[in-house]
Amino acid sequence: MSQLLSERILNMATSATLAMAAKARELKAEGKDIIGLSLGEPDFNTPDFIKDAAKKAIDENYNSYTPVDGYAELKQAIITKFKRDNNLVYNPKQIVVSTGAKQCLANVALVLIDEGDEVILPCPYWVSYSDIVKLSNGVPVEVVTSIENDFKMTPNQLEAAITPKTKMIWFSSPCNPSGSVYSKSELRALADVLVKYPNIYVVSDEIYEHINFIGCHASMAEFNDMYGRTITINGVSKAFSMTGWRIGFLGGPESIARACNKMQGQITSGANCIAQRAVITALEADPSKIQYMVDEFKVRRDLILKLLNNIEGISCNIPEGAFYVFPDVSSFYGKMLKGNLIKNATDFSLYLLEAALVATVTGDAFGNPNCIRISYAASQNQISEAISRIQKAVS
Ligand code: PMP
Ligand code: GLU
Repeated sequence: MSQLLSERILNMATSATLAMAAKARELKAEGKDIIGLSLGEPDFNTPDFIKDAAKKAIDENYNSYTPVDGYAELKQAIITKFKRDNNLVYNPKQIVVSTGAKQCLANVALVLIDEGDEVILPCPYWVSYSDIVKLSNGVPVEVVTSIENDFKMTPNQLEAAITPKTKMIWFSSPCNPSGSVYSKSELRALADVLVKYPNIYVVSDEIYEHINFIGCHASMAEFNDMYGRTITINGVSKAFSMTGWRIGFLGGPESIARACNKMQGQITSGANCIAQRAVITALEADPSKIQYMVDEFKVRRDLILKLLNNIEGISCNIPEGAFYVFPDVSSFYGKMLKGNLIKNATDFSLYLLEAALVATVTGDAFGNPNCIRISYAASQNQISEAISRIQKAVS
């Protein structure tokens, strides 16, 4: 019998974050006391002022298809947000609203990558980058960074990875999974390399922009010589605790935005109408309205770092944003833990699930085999309990 499924899907990895979250959910349903620290999802309710805007939109009968690239009023709110928070000036033709930042990334890949084009991914990178690039027939080129350099790519590393086939570089700052935040001068140093290669585009994924503990966020598109070839991606999932509402957006060159609009028009049409109306209210609000969540994430970051640093064999960088820690656990490789041989990060993460009932994600999914990712989007009690269980499991 001929093969039913396409090579495309057979060659695609399942999202490791979603797979681990599903596994944790399953075990929980079986009655196991799992602490889920695998999924990158804020544990707060969506703020009331945003929920009220959605209820109003339903009552006002917003129920029709929206323009494919988003309501004009939402695009205006995004333009105002980009100017207010990032000093970036876009016009409505440069903005596309999509079903989550994930769809923005997929659109950009599908409209820019041709067979064999290379996309530079500083490791660790967010789990889906690599498979979205492959889906688009591109070739991910991983650049290995070190914990000593706070998991940031240096200009020399970037230059060494560039070939005549390089089409783009994709990165997130604050970074999922390392929490690293590129400073403006670090971005400038990378831009100084890129100016020598005018055909290389940049995808700057800034979805964790507001979850930043150092109070400084920089965007690649802020530099005049990078503006015309940077696609800035953002969304409301993280900062506004709206993961399930599925709204993301991008700002970038008009030709790319037009192409994303065309792609989306054949695949999903416009994003959900009620969510779009609610996001107008979210983006128009002063960012101080969501500061309470950022403050709480910082307390949790400090707590989890303190607890993890007490465990022998685990070493962490200090994340400056997002809500993940990315500890190096490679000192356990080759060791037996309660009868289990730990060969790699996947073994270690699965061992924690079985022995400590704590769900984490293997670093392999993010292009780093030495680490695991722990999300601290959980209560302080859950974090303390989880790390205490991990400590017992590895001691
Ligand atoms: N980029 C990064 C770095 C992320 O962590 C996520 C997590 N979901 C996304 C993009 C996609 O976000 P969204 O929920 O808007 O699709
Ligand atoms: N971005 C989140 C994470 O990294 C959500 C899961 C996903 O979309 O893959 O866990």
